[in-house]
Amino acid sequence: SFLEYAPAPESQAILNLRDSYGLFIDGEFREGHGTPFASISPATEKHIATIAHADASDVDAAVAAARRAYDRTWSRMSGADRGKCLFRIARLVQERSRELAVAESLDNGKPIKESRDVDVPLVAAWFFYYAGWADKLDHVGLGAAPAPLGVAAQVIPWNFPLLMLAWKIAPALAAGNTVVLKPAETTSLTALLFAEIVQQADLPPGVVNIITGAGETGAALVGHGDVDKVAFTGSTSVGRAIARSVAGTNKKLTLELGGKAANIVFDDAPIDQAIEGIVNGIFFNQGHVCCAGSRLLVQESIHDEVIDRLKTRLSTLRLGDPLDKNTDIGAINSAEQLQRIRELSDVGEAEGAERWTAACTIPENGFWYAPTIFTNVSTSHRIAREEIFGPVLSVLTFRTPTEAIAKANNTPYGLSAGIWTDKGSRILAVADKLRAGVVWANTFNRFDPSSPFGGYKESGYGREGGRHGIAAYLKTAAPTVALPSATA
Ligand code: NAD
Repeated sequence: SFLEYAPAPESQAILNLRDSYGLFIDGEFREGHGTPFASISPATEKHIATIAHADASDVDAAVAAARRAYDRTWSRMSGADRGKCLFRIARLVQERSRELAVAESLDNGKPIKESRDVDVPLVAAWFFYYAGWADKLDHVGLGAAPAPLGVAAQVIPWNFPLLMLAWKIAPALAAGNTVVLKPAETTSLTALLFAEIVQQADLPPGVVNIITGAGETGAALVGHGDVDKVAFTGSTSVGRAIARSVAGTNKKLTLELGGKAANIVFDDAPIDQAIEGIVNGIFFNQGHVCCAGSRLLVQESIHDEVIDRLKTRLSTLRLGDPLDKNTDIGAINSAEQLQRIRELSDVGEAEGAERWTAACTIPENGFWYAPTIFTNVSTSHRIAREEIFGPVLSVLTFRTPTEAIAKANNTPYGLSAGIWTDKGSRILAVADKLRAGVVWANTFNRFDPSSPFGGYKESGYGREGGRHGIAAYLKTAAPTVALPSATA
């Protein structure tokens, strides 16, 4: 329950940030052995805080703390008591929600109305939901006493820093595992504020450990010999490297990788709703969304009308200060990501697609990319096949449902898809043939902790959310105990 948001300077005043943040290991903050790095605001390029850098010895210390906590406290606690810890975390997230939302927008660049109304409320929802599972695991359908795996190594990306943390930590803890989590190097701040919440919630030391650093810290963590489970969200290339490093070990692995979702609009679609859905599908969070509706497949007969209306709608979007409550499009998370978006967009133009860019004033500092639409895109173009991970929509057309399905499935990814039509029977028929783990109809980018989320093909494997999300952190055992004979 948020009230009004003040403009940037006052919003920042509710933050009580430290100048520097240590690693969170065994219940306390400590220095790292690597060279600390700066966290900057992508909207202004101003320094926010200095972040500790974990080297291999820090990874060892974090995994050892998680192992001790697993053996001595967490795996011995009743499910009800673990649930209480998760409920306390959920309530503290709600209490500190204004501060978390401002910190997330400052550090990541996403509009405050998204971090305030989507990210942070979903973080609380995820902890409330999995808190409820902690004492009901005998009902999960995996036998009478499903057991945790042990120590989970979790590596997350920068697009939803706090929400991806919640997706990873909440089910792991509910199932009785302890965790070592590494946030992305450009967005460590809210994970460290979350570490403060773990302290406030009085969790036993070592149950949650947060280590910060770049790719080599992540590689040391997932490659550590005393880890039982690896959970990764990020790029397909790093996901592949992790799958190779985990192969042949006892570690269980779940991967949530990229996407190139088709948002399919039929000529009988509720058109106003569809326009909003297309905009939300690709411009929410600047398009830094693995399930973003980055390919618009529009039926040929309504192509021109849809494109005209989209352009009109995009011209009303406000790009700018992420901490201003009126902002629709925030900053691109990093200079590197901006460079990737620019390069792939230029390839789109060079390959013959037609570029249209919304007119907006780009701030002088920071990393920005104006909402962009490519029309005349063909399935062979790189912008129709590769993940741009930015506010760029590639538009393709189709004539029949069969052609729409073939084009939608013509991608190495299989994370999500959208269908817009008035016909219920068409929704069912098309959804059945789409090779995507998540299908939305007449809506897009809806998330709920009770719903399993994850992909087919190169989008990864395993599911997060719901019963499947907790099953990914449990062992399936089949204990068989014979009763003493009646004559004994
Ligand atoms: P990335 O995969 O390089 O980084 C994600 C996380 O993995 C970060 O925490 C990073 O430090 C860590 N990491 C990097 N190398 C590692 C390694 N060898 N072992 C273990 N951990 C490692 O993603 P990125 O560079 O931030 O973004 C690149 C592309 O990935 C984007 O353009 C986008 O296409 C995609 N991406 C997808 C998602 C998603 O949610 N599916 C999120 C972010 C980025």
